[in-house]
Amino acid sequence: MSKPILGKFRKPQTDKKILGPMQRISPEMRRFSDDEAVDYCIIGVGSAGGVLSQRLAKSGFKVVGLEAGPFWDTERDWVSDEKGSHELYWNDLRLTGGNNPLSLGDNNSGKGVGGGSVHWAAFAPRLHPSDFRIHTEDGVGVDWPISYDELKPYYALLEREIPVAGPAYFPWGDPHGYPYGPHPMGGVGDILVKGCTKLGIRSCAGGPVAILSGSHGNRPHCIYRGFCLQGCKVGAKASTLITHVPEALEYGAEIRAHSMAFRISMDKNNRTDGVFYYDSLGREHFQRAKAVIVSGYAIETPRLLLNSACPGHGNGLANSSGTVGKYLMAQAGNVVGGRFESLVRMYKAPPAHALTEEFYETDPKRDFARGFAVQTVGPLPIAFAKQMMAAKGVWGWGMRRVMMDYNHWAALGVLGEILPWADNCVELAEQKDQWGIPVAKVTFNLHDNDNKLIEFAKNKVEELLRAAGAQDVAQEKRFAHLVGGARMGNDPGSSVVDKFGRTHDVSNLFVCDGSILPTQGSANPGLTIQSLAARTADYLISQGDKVFTSEQRDMTRPPVRRELSPKGTFIHGIPRLSFAE
Ligand SMILES: Cc1cc2nc3c(=O)[nH]c(=O)nc-3n(C[C@H](O)[C@H](O)[C@H](O)COP(=O)(O)OP(=O)(O)OC[C@H]3O[C@@H](n4cnc5c(N)ncnc54)[C@H](O)[C@@H]3O)c2cc1C
Ligand code: SF4
Repeated sequence: MSKPILGKFRKPQTDKKILGPMQRISPEMRRFSDDEAVDYCIIGVGSAGGVLSQRLAKSGFKVVGLEAGPFWDTERDWVSDEKGSHELYWNDLRLTGGNNPLSLGDNNSGKGVGGGSVHWAAFAPRLHPSDFRIHTEDGVGVDWPISYDELKPYYALLEREIPVAGPAYFPWGDPHGYPYGPHPMGGVGDILVKGCTKLGIRSCAGGPVAILSGSHGNRPHCIYRGFCLQGCKVGAKASTLITHVPEALEYGAEIRAHSMAFRISMDKNNRTDGVFYYDSLGREHFQRAKAVIVSGYAIETPRLLLNSACPGHGNGLANSSGTVGKYLMAQAGNVVGGRFESLVRMYKAPPAHALTEEFYETDPKRDFARGFAVQTVGPLPIAFAKQMMAAKGVWGWGMRRVMMDYNHWAALGVLGEILPWADNCVELAEQKDQWGIPVAKVTFNLHDNDNKLIEFAKNKVEELLRAAGAQDVAQEKRFAHLVGGARMGNDPGSSVVDKFGRTHDVSNLFVCDGSILPTQGSANPGLTIQSLAARTADYLISQGDKVFTSEQRDMTRPPVRRELSPKGTFIHGIPRLSFAE
């Protein structure tokens, strides 16, 4: 059967050379028939799914990745234009509600091979060790079933694989250095550092970001024109589309684009035997598989599990705890803009290039638990116009005047930890999407601790901008980075998956993406999600065929398989530091 595999902006094609020169993929993609029971069917080839498919294929497993969106050809499909890039987002219908409804649709999650890593800003900090035990330390939220030390080797590995540019010494959390040197600073970064310095706050210039500050293999260094959220046509910004998927294909994975999974199938032995999906023409298919991994993002993963309710799993698949869809989290992402007398020119740098984590940890002097980071944001004109409309209520001539002033503005973002609450959740709505599948209804409420944290954080950023010389300050209430909804834990009564991502209820069904995070800290989640995916892959490889046949759960920690890193990880470019865990 011929399947369309290329991007959205061209007609579907069936030729076998599938990607543009940037990705340099020469091998033909292997094809599996729907009837062949592959080892792993991965649903969603985004941040986590990209890393999983690369490692599992490289270890010899038969892998099919079902991806709802297109297979981007970075050179032909992407444009360095803010308006022209909205196709990168998951724009399908989703409903939003609660006291603080999240803005969904564009700019929320990705759709297409690479998922959210295609349009992420690429800030790549690690979580702090304290993030893994906030219940023990602060009496809030929940502890993770793993410690920072278990994830640390994977952080170090992924920082090399994608790779991350940053300072030689990053002082917060578990202090460490980065393999590539920091980036030169843009106007917004200068202001963040200036404001911090005036207030005696430590700041970090030039990273940590998964953007090349020097060449790496066939990827060039950044050219500093700020189109990172538009995909980075140049290829300097990491996305799994260019860092991991090429090798997944080389080792025989099939990534089936335009394939929307709508139900996970169960056999009579309480094991999954494959996935139902629609192709781009709306035809229904069933891909047989010995095991299934759901990697569809914090909204689509719970949605699919709930839509897969069946006899024996009437509440939704893997939902005996009743927690599928619950404990959804978004980080407080207030954007605070400051107007400066001198030119700032926000667009002349990656939006992500400087931060401070000085307020990250719980401070007993404050009246709330946990904390926040402050980061450069640097919106392009359309995003800036939306922010100004929300922040200042400008419209018409007022908007025009503000926009003519764009080059004088600097925008900094709060990234604050909102705690996991059961009433923040993904449920199924009555409305259906273009396939006739019930869509997700997302409810989001802020609680007392969250409100206090946000109030403190936004005032601190305002203070910082004024210290840097801002004459006018305006702020937009915003949220960023959804995670949770299928959280991991040791207790099957209060979590969906165990510490390796295996669902408590079905032994050959796994979840691996941002939805398994029990808490979120104040670090952008992408690096953590990709590190968890590498760890889950190591576990599955250690377990071998047992995953396909046995009901027993071996909880032994797997060895870290550095040999599975994409080729070129350790030999290309000009890494500054020697590699150490
Ligand atoms: C504007 C923006 C900027 C961001 N910047 C940063 C940043 O600087 N640093 C950072 O760490 N994070 C950032 N993020 C967040 C980051 O992109 C996400 O946290 C991350 O990509 C989530 O990874 P994931 O694997 O959970 O899901 P995704 O990467 O979203 O992958 C899920 C994939 O599954 C596919 N899918 C879903 N359902 C189905 C289905 N039923 N069938 C088939 N396929 C399906 C989707 O199309 C998608 O490709 C940003 C997000 C946004 C919106
Ligand atoms: S600023 Fe750098 S990373 Fe961002 S889009 Fe341009 S080249 Fe890519």
